Amino acid sequence: MYGLIGKHLGHSFSSEFFNNKFRREGLKERYDLFPIDDIKKISSLINDYPDLKGLNVTIPYKEEIIPFLDKISDEAKAIGAVNVVRIIRDDTAYRLEGHNTDCIGFRESLLPLISSVNHKKALILGTGGAAKAVDYVLSDLGVTTLFVSRKSGNNNITYSDLTEEIISQNTLIINATPLGMWPDLDSCPPIPYNFLTENHLCYDLIYNPTETLFLRKAKAKGALIKNGFEMLKIQALAAWEIWNS
Ligand code: NAP
Repeated sequence: MYGLIGKHLGHSFSSEFFNNKFRREGLKERYDLFPIDDIKKISSLINDYPDLKGLNVTIPYKEEIIPFLDKISDEAKAIGAVNVVRIIRDDTAYRLEGHNTDCIGFRESLLPLISSVNHKKALILGTGGAAKAVDYVLSDLGVTTLFVSRKSGNNNITYSDLTEEIISQNTLIINATPLGMWPDLDSCPPIPYNFLTENHLCYDLIYNPTETLFLRKAKAKGALIKNGFEMLKIQALAAWEIWNS
């Protein structure tokens, strides 16, 4: 048995993805949703479901879960966020291992798009958990990153700081905010889209809708675009491998 923990769980891609996979492959497993209002409830959840072997973790517990883990992968530690937990049990106890597969999904879906183009600099829109995973991957690939936030800070610029020069130097732009996600279809990050060119690659972590306003505006300027669906599938499959490793 597997499942997803988070505060408010509505429609879940993971539940559909894994339950379809179990049906297709004839696996006697199931994937359930576990909305919890406090991360401290994780211990009773794991005790109440002795067949539970793995969890996905979503908002707002990707960081809050870290103190409850016995082990954390190097990547999850560096990012500071965990979206996959492997539960290892023996007769009397259990151990929890935390991983981050968002970074695996982002890396593997991005690599084919940048294999023939040398993007040296990237703007990451947003500063949440997903933005940190994107930053980890890009930095590892040797791309210089700059966070863009609504608030000023030591490690970022704000949307009003964006100039033609900054947009033209940063040929890779990643939307790691929820702006434009269904049902908020008319929103997009407030960047100067008129400075985008065919040299840009604009990647939106959002997968619903398939083409957000951010991507439509970037496409209209000739930029290459990519949505978050492939990342989503890759991170789910990577979770499955971790749970069964
Ligand atoms: P989050 O923590 O809720 O938000 C990310 C950041 O977006 C915030 O830290 C904030 O940065 C900015 N933001 C939030 N509301 C905003 C607003 N109204 N206007 C402008 N900026 C706003 O979310 P997350 O978990 O990092 O996820 C971000 C997005 O990535 C979501 O849409 C999520 O669905 C998607 N995602 C996709 C995948 C995938 O596999 N495709 C995986 C993970 C996440 P500032 O406060 O610095 O402005």
